[in-house]
Amino acid sequence: MNKDRITDRFISYVKVDTTSDPESSTTPSTKKQWDLANKLAEELKTIGMSDVTIDDNAYVMATLPSNVEHEVPTIGFISHFDTSPDYSGTNVNPQIIENYDGKDIVLNEEDNIILSPDYFEDLLLYKGQTLITTDGSTLLGADDKAGICEIVSAMEYLINNPEIKHGKIRVGFTPDEEIGRGAHKFDVEKFGADWAYTMDGSQVGELEYENFNAAGAKIHVKGKSVHPGSAKGKMINSIYIATEFINSLPRLETPEHTEGYQGFFHLYSIKGDVENTYLQYIIRDHDRKKFEARKALIQRIADEINNQYEEEFITVEIKDQYFNMKEKVEPVMHIVDIAEEAMKQLNIKPIIKPIRGGTDGSQLSYMGLPCPNIFAGGHNFHGRYEYVPVESIIKATQVICKIAELTQKKAK
Ligand SMILES: [Zn+2]
Repeated sequence: MNKDRITDRFISYVKVDTTSDPESSTTPSTKKQWDLANKLAEELKTIGMSDVTIDDNAYVMATLPSNVEHEVPTIGFISHFDTSPDYSGTNVNPQIIENYDGKDIVLNEEDNIILSPDYFEDLLLYKGQTLITTDGSTLLGADDKAGICEIVSAMEYLINNPEIKHGKIRVGFTPDEEIGRGAHKFDVEKFGADWAYTMDGSQVGELEYENFNAAGAKIHVKGKSVHPGSAKGKMINSIYIATEFINSLPRLETPEHTEGYQGFFHLYSIKGDVENTYLQYIIRDHDRKKFEARKALIQRIADEINNQYEEEFITVEIKDQYFNMKEKVEPVMHIVDIAEEAMKQLNIKPIIKPIRGGTDGSQLSYMGLPCPNIFAGGHNFHGRYEYVPVESIIKATQVICKIAELTQKKAK
């Protein structure tokens, strides 16, 4: 695999601004995402892919036909081309640090923005490697343009090396993953794969097939505003009732106190005055039963407070967001096993752990396309400290090729 070619390809993607916008209701959420979608469709044609399509919502799909006679399951590889609205993706100016020496990296001298292994210890894993960083003013967009680069590079490699045998491979590039809508309009039937992998994880070796069950809760607390001078026995201060609600939830079951398989309630917004207070929570748990219990607890606390006031001051609206893909992947565990074996054959130590979040793959798994997640190589997503080692991009590219090869071999 040609390191310079892969580096150039990655840089050509991150220079295209593709920030998504949660306030927009269109797909893609921002017009500029078309720029990269169109570029990718062209590039897929150029490298020799078949059936290259780009639909009305900017979903790009393409096929690498099988090069064997026997029946092989069709597998897919998926990445998203939008970048997070949490941080600017305009005028990304990547810096290439060759033969990284393990010391501080100055991203911006003037503003003293330093990417330091004292704080980001993961950097030390990549001593001697080639890092791509930002210039300190934007995110990088390795999430998930590294994934796209890996998929395109792997397809190109397989096309140029026909002695590597594989079945039919489908690739899919989606908009708007960062605003939770990457899978929304993904045409699973048209994609037509038996299973797929999102290339959207972080560190080399990551392989994930468990994610959170997720819901959002909006709590509205009504009060009664009366002139404070004559409020005795009349005023109901919604802020105090909201505080009572907040304090009734387990204080240590919050993101800052949990890890691994521990779920949480996360209060991420509070806005209020005497008359109205609005609380917004996200609820997360890997275990479906515990997840349902968490939602029930929110409702029960609201009911109990309402009963105590003999009036309905609190209303609760809970909406499910996504579910743990484990339920859909476990019945077809061989798809995880193949990825694990591919890594082992490439001397990559698989890191299998539950995702404390969701992926496009979790939604796709519930839409009928089982879809574990594989590392794409980047670190510190969604901010100015984002970076990716080129060697990690190459490893992920090799993993894709190896999965294609092993799937073919196992089908014999
Ligand atoms: Zn991503």
